[in-house]
Amino acid sequence: MPAQIIDGNALAKKIRLEIAAKTAILTAKGVKPGLAVLLVGEDPASQVYVRNKVKACEDVGMYSILERHPADLSEKALLARINELNHDKNIHGILVQLPLPKHIDSHRVIEAIAPEKDVDGFHVANAGALMIGAPLFRPCTPYGCMKMLESIDYPIRGARAVVIGASNIVGKPMAMLLLQAGATVTICNSKTKDLTAHTKEADILVVATGKPKMITASMVKSGAVVIDVGINRLPDGKLCGDVDFDEVKYVASAITPVPGGVGPMTITMLLLNTLEAAERVKA
Ligand code: NDP
Repeated sequence: MPAQIIDGNALAKKIRLEIAAKTAILTAKGVKPGLAVLLVGEDPASQVYVRNKVKACEDVGMYSILERHPADLSEKALLARINELNHDKNIHGILVQLPLPKHIDSHRVIEAIAPEKDVDGFHVANAGALMIGAPLFRPCTPYGCMKMLESIDYPIRGARAVVIGASNIVGKPMAMLLLQAGATVTICNSKTKDLTAHTKEADILVVATGKPKMITASMVKSGAVVIDVGINRLPDGKLCGDVDFDEVKYVASAITPVPGGVGPMTITMLLLNTLEAAERVKA
């Protein structure tokens, strides 16, 4: 029997309705949650991402600004603008779309964002807070994956979880969230020997490598829950994940599709983080 499909679009829609209701309440109390999205340069994929983020804010009734800066904007000018936004009372979340042009040090830029407005959760203070189990913001993609596990009532406590991919924005924070939820976690990277020996052990398998369809049915334990973070564009223009969905769905008990899985959840968690940032101001 094929696996249960964890529908990211449907779950995102449900959570966005809740966010919209809370946004309306907070706005009525005089605090309208606000997000500033900064884009430097003209990367086509980034253009789409930032538009979607700002539109999602508008749809739930939040205030948002989208600033498009030229590719030759100096690092100094970008840091100065972030500093202004750090002090802007109408802005509760600041997001700088990555990647940045090569002449700008992304690390320095992220560190310039006030941690209490760092809704991506990438600031070193927020990464550290997550590490010690007291997160101010959970990075959006792993947070969305946790909500998907919650949505199927998966008993994470005591489960064997394997995360493939160890980036600062997905793999590492994902592993931390699973660990804090009581899973026994293995993190794999491109140097991992005998990857299948690890993946076959996983009750929960999260894949975030950027390698199209690299996880095949023979690598997955029967009945596992498979969360596919990857977004890859195939030569024919279609999108696919890091998991071979068509075959793994016959081995897994639940699986996320691409598109329509983790992607819509990521933006939704950005909205949730912005709402939480604004609620803290009110508190
Ligand atoms: P990175 O390129 O930063 O990290 C990839 C990670 O995967 C690295 O840790 C790398 O190992 C590991 N890896 C690569 N190849 C293999 C392999 N063959 N076996 C085991 N591990 C491997 O990518 P991101 O974390 O930023 O993104 C991962 C994927 O998720 C991409 O497809 C991206 O588009 C997608 N993504 C989707 C989002 C969403 O909203 N759905 C949001 C963010 C990302 P090493 O450390 O050794 O290099």
